[in-house]
Amino acid sequence: MNPFETVREEVDCTPDVADEVKTTTCYMCACRCGIRVYLRDGTIRYIDGNPDHPVNKGVICGKGSAGIMTQYSPARLTKPLKRVGPRGSGDFKEIEWDEALSLAAEWLGEVRAKDPKKLAFFTGRDQSQSLTGWWAGQYGTPNFAAHGGFCSVNMAAGGLYSIGGSFWEFGEPDWELTKYFMLFGVAEDHDSNPIKTGLGKMKSREGTKIVSVNPVRTGYSSIADEWIGIRPGTDGLFILSIIRELLLADAIDLDYLVRYTNVPWLVIDAPGEADHGLFARNEAGDPLAFDQEKQTLVPALDADIRPQLVGRQRLADGRAGVPVFELLVERYVDDAYAPEAVAAETGIPAAQIRRIAAELADAAFTETVTIDQPWTDWAGRRHEQMIGRPVSIHAMRGISAHSNGFHTCRALHLLQVLLGSVDVPGGWRYKAPFPKPIPPGPKPAGKTSAPNTGIGGMPLGFVKGPEDLIVDDDGAPIRIDKGYSWDYPISAHGLMHVVLHNAWAGDPYPVDLVFMYMANMAWNSAMNVPDTLKYLTDQHEDGTYKIPKIIYSDAFYSETVPYADLILPDTTYLERWDCISLLDRPISSADGPADAIRQPVVAPDRDVRPFQDVLIELGHRLKLPGLTKEDGSAKFPGLYPDYMANHERSPGIGPLAGWRGDGNSQGTGAANPDQLQAYVDNGCFWKAEFPDDAKYFKHANRSYLDYAKRMGWMPKADPIVFQLYSEDLQKFRLAAEGHGAHQPPEAQRQRIKDYFDPLPIWYIPFEEAGVSSEDFPLHAITQRPMHMYHSWGSQNAWLRQITNRNYLFVSEDMAAERGLKDDDWVWVTSHHGRVKAPIRTMSGVNRHTVWTWNAIGKRKGAWGLDEDAPEATEGFLLNHVISDLLPEKGGGYRYANADPVTGQAAWYDLRVQLEKCAPGEAGETVPMQVAVQSPKNRPARPAVLRFGSATRDRKTADAPVAAREWIAHRTEIAETVPGVSPGHGNRLQTEEAGEE
Ligand code: SF4
Repeated sequence: MNPFETVREEVDCTPDVADEVKTTTCYMCACRCGIRVYLRDGTIRYIDGNPDHPVNKGVICGKGSAGIMTQYSPARLTKPLKRVGPRGSGDFKEIEWDEALSLAAEWLGEVRAKDPKKLAFFTGRDQSQSLTGWWAGQYGTPNFAAHGGFCSVNMAAGGLYSIGGSFWEFGEPDWELTKYFMLFGVAEDHDSNPIKTGLGKMKSREGTKIVSVNPVRTGYSSIADEWIGIRPGTDGLFILSIIRELLLADAIDLDYLVRYTNVPWLVIDAPGEADHGLFARNEAGDPLAFDQEKQTLVPALDADIRPQLVGRQRLADGRAGVPVFELLVERYVDDAYAPEAVAAETGIPAAQIRRIAAELADAAFTETVTIDQPWTDWAGRRHEQMIGRPVSIHAMRGISAHSNGFHTCRALHLLQVLLGSVDVPGGWRYKAPFPKPIPPGPKPAGKTSAPNTGIGGMPLGFVKGPEDLIVDDDGAPIRIDKGYSWDYPISAHGLMHVVLHNAWAGDPYPVDLVFMYMANMAWNSAMNVPDTLKYLTDQHEDGTYKIPKIIYSDAFYSETVPYADLILPDTTYLERWDCISLLDRPISSADGPADAIRQPVVAPDRDVRPFQDVLIELGHRLKLPGLTKEDGSAKFPGLYPDYMANHERSPGIGPLAGWRGDGNSQGTGAANPDQLQAYVDNGCFWKAEFPDDAKYFKHANRSYLDYAKRMGWMPKADPIVFQLYSEDLQKFRLAAEGHGAHQPPEAQRQRIKDYFDPLPIWYIPFEEAGVSSEDFPLHAITQRPMHMYHSWGSQNAWLRQITNRNYLFVSEDMAAERGLKDDDWVWVTSHHGRVKAPIRTMSGVNRHTVWTWNAIGKRKGAWGLDEDAPEATEGFLLNHVISDLLPEKGGGYRYANADPVTGQAAWYDLRVQLEKCAPGEAGETVPMQVAVQSPKNRPARPAVLRFGSATRDRKTADAPVAAREWIAHRTEIAETVPGVSPGHGNRLQTEEAGEE
């Protein structure tokens, strides 16, 4: 070697991490970001965000990138299981899929042939509800719902009955232009990345203020410019007090109100009469207003009227009509809502309430945002500019998971509308396909059911009056959860949290079969865990179970699995096709619609099948009409991907809106056999953009309304008039007062009268009103950590390194008063039960409130964790002390612990007392129940679980023979359906790939 020659070492500084990259949609939380999954030799090496995706634009969070460890979780189920020991024992035998499907079809078939409503089909955080709900309707049971009833149905229903939309999937702040942003009760795992990036934009903009109203200052609240540590359950009172201040100061957008809301509509004032409180209407049924120029009654929907907003008007029949605006002012300009009057209840000083009201008014009316974009309204009037009030609001479960949540959510929308800030520049904006008519269609189906017959529609929908309730001739509930009955008339998402209780109690009737999907109902998705376990295991004297049969599908060995009779093991989200549909819970933005798919990026290495495939297969075996051709053959032999591409809910409208027809149609169009390939080629999503003149004022914008009708989102391109006063609610009240053909049973009348107020009200949450404040002086709530999503996150080897135990957080002041310090153990006692917990003190919490992270505490033996894992020994679950039912109030009847309008689970109504554990009591938490046993034959849990360990290298080739055969069979089937081959992936277009 020449000693003077420079040695040139070849060091590869950027080695390929992958030989293939596939796009799909994340499912590590509910946000549905686009991801790129990097694969080498068929195993996952790395996950990052898809920069082109409309939801996250390349951003990925810790949960999303940790999806690898969920993919290789030791908690994954590996094969269908049939129970052989007692329920709860975990004693199962492995069976083949043929046997599992035959058994499931046999059980389902027997129930359908006898009385289909004896099937209770409930799913958890299911992202295929448009399929599962439709399947229930085809099967013939009204007893279907997903997790919405125990999450945020108050938020959804409150919005859909007020402004035709709501937060999160329904709408978003105008992140670019907002100047004043208020967050109410928002935890960090919903709409996660979009909110984080949106907050980032606001924080980097001069003159923008973020106010967070939340009893706990964590996550988003910790970066807010102002934190308001409100007392739980009093948000409605705070909002109505702000409204009073705005009305008194005349700081409302009167022009906006007249144009877009029902404030001018006349309400019949005839107490005791059958139409008292309904809108005065002309012969055509149109609501009336009084025109101050013409000095006469006019149709309120006519363009360019000059309505009188105050005073009483004489109607054609001589009775009086009062404009909604007058009723609003009468209601809210009341000393009961004065800041001084609500300060003690809310824990917010009067001066702060006044200041927040003034700041909102200032931002709305002195910092107007103007976009030089002409647009035409619904009546054909051209506007040269788009002018907006730059105030936006976002809210979630914190304000809705109370027994007064529905009205609180309506109050929040009233505030937005009074400020003129809905779908305007700088305000809060609808996401497609919202806004919808108020309320949206269709109505719930299921009033009647018959053997081997569908119910002619979807079990969940929107009622407009008592005649739409799902009750029998005596007014008794027909659904097992009593949804859409006089108990909870507007239960738009059902009441999943009482299904097991009612099925056990036979109230209103016993069911034969409970079929659940990814709902951890024996643990963190249950109120009252100890009794729930009793519901699942209780037997009649003859030794048969009170809930006779339970089928459960999940991907993981959760706390619920041991209580089922038949387990249909699901795949992970990286192993299956899926559909994020506009028919379900969309991922659109305010600038245009979007939907997405998941494609399998790896093949299962276990004998598991996607639940959606299984459901379609079962539907075909049961000969459900929508899944079977006239000749008896399967309508979707390619299973879920076949359904995604070829199912039509109504002519031209299918699960996916992109690339329909010949590939050039959007929204509507014939099924396109190449549709899925088009999605895959585009990174697994589709999006479109509204024309510029359709991006704001969508509720009244001609360009938008025509677009929405063309896309099949609305039956007519009519404007949507915000219903600040709800005639639909008043109809229920009239029924309770003795009017009409459909009236509540005697015992329900007062409850309906009290809570079906057509204008938003506030009342003390039921539990607080029902227990002694001395005995239970504290509120107890949960928050969800940014890095976890339900129990899925807390079984993930990477995420567990961030949090693997939870504490009860208490305010420093309260802790000092009680002589408590960090790491002390306390008994947390409610009127229902008690649980032991370690504490941590903090300053950022309302002093009357204690809180903890949700779903960290695990039951021993579940989730593939070691029995001594901190989650199972020191973690605790507040659910043990939350009652699923309200105390009996005379007559022996107990309502669900829920909102009386919608049935939303009132998780955050919980009241507790703390008591320091006696010496010797501190330590392992109770009650966590005895350990559940893991089924025999499950792979042993590795002692050390890390990326790169043996689990990573499992491939399809290692899968059991049956699984490999099925994968081959599945591929074969799919290849008969054009465009549905699961084998194709989309290689990242790198230079290397281009050379191939
Ligand atoms: S926010 Fe949710 S969906 Fe998005 S990357 Fe994180 S876990 Fe995945």
